[in-house]
Amino acid sequence: MKKSLIFLDHENIQNSIDLLAVIDLMYGKGNSITYAACLNHQGSEAMGLVDHIVNIQDDRIENHDLINLTNGLEELHRIYAFDSILIPATHTGRMLAPRLSMRLHVGLVADVTAIEHHNGNLEMVRPAFSGKIMAGIINRGRLPVMMSVRQNVFNYNSAETKETSRIVFLPTNIQPSTIQLLESKEKERSLDIRDSEILISGGGGVQDNFHCLDLLANELDAQVSASRRIVDSGLASRRIQVGQSGKTVSPRLYIALGIYGSLQHIEGLNNVENIISVNIDKDAPICSLSDIVVVGDAVEFIDQLVEKIRKNRNIETGGK
Ligand SMILES: Cc1cc2nc3c(=O)[nH]c(=O)nc-3n(C[C@H](O)[C@H](O)[C@H](O)COP(=O)(O)OP(=O)(O)OC[C@H]3O[C@@H](n4cnc5c(N)ncnc54)[C@H](O)[C@@H]3O)c2cc1C
Repeated sequence: MKKSLIFLDHENIQNSIDLLAVIDLMYGKGNSITYAACLNHQGSEAMGLVDHIVNIQDDRIENHDLINLTNGLEELHRIYAFDSILIPATHTGRMLAPRLSMRLHVGLVADVTAIEHHNGNLEMVRPAFSGKIMAGIINRGRLPVMMSVRQNVFNYNSAETKETSRIVFLPTNIQPSTIQLLESKEKERSLDIRDSEILISGGGGVQDNFHCLDLLANELDAQVSASRRIVDSGLASRRIQVGQSGKTVSPRLYIALGIYGSLQHIEGLNNVENIISVNIDKDAPICSLSDIVVVGDAVEFIDQLVEKIRKNRNIETGGK
């Protein structure tokens, strides 16, 4: 039986829990004992999902004290000898993973987006050369296998509930902290398309009217995203590009307006709950992935939907 550790970043619990899906892909469901480590935090979100929750507890370790967090995780590994350590590629995770791999003298595969098996080898896949190629990286046997995992790519769903034990781990190698948290502020509404519940996404079919997407986005409290065709033509920033060389998104609703559905675009749509596509070509690949397909002109669709939403709102408020 393998032993795997995931790090629970308390600022991004969902992406941390989703690391369990990666473990299932690596070893097969039920073939690994799972540990979830968190720092001065109960980690209750992982209750029933992992075998053990390990609370690294030491009041001297401040929240963003990566040196001491690395010390704690290194010590934990020296005791438990994990086969793999998985860290979410969050802000904290991106700083933590390379530090820990240096300490453990093992390689790190950063920003993993897929797990594959070839000729008996486990391959960790990650984009390379600005997303132009996907590189499959194998581990030659030195343990633990270490990786950071791109956010919103994997999705852990399990009907099964585990009996989870709690372990309180008191690290011994803690140094006086060199950092002090002076202030923390609630983040303002994010402009990152990865945080949006609804995305209004435009492609080559709306190239001449891309600005119209804002109308619909405003009505639905959504954000606008785009295919690479739009970004390459200079109509939108790379920050809102969905796809292999853009961002991976997982909104509840993705409205694809005039998007063909190339493989590279679809790669950014891993965990989208519902897709509505509007296209003049019913055979465009995006249509076969969609929950609802509207065959027709995308700009006309926007106009009609906006009008309908406004009319309904007027009826609800009695025109006030
Ligand atoms: C290494 C590499 C990485 C890439 N990475 C990405 C990436 O991250 N993201 C990405 O998106 N692409 C990426 N691409 C590009 C990708 O291959 C496609 O070229 C691109 O996605 C096409 O964009 P599109 O579907 O918007 O446009 P098009 O291919 O031009 O498709 C337009 C669609 O709109 C429809 N249409 C036309 N007029 C209308 C209308 N009036 N109303 C409704 N529908 C209409 C058409 O039927 C068609 O289906 C990458 C390519 C490479 C080689």
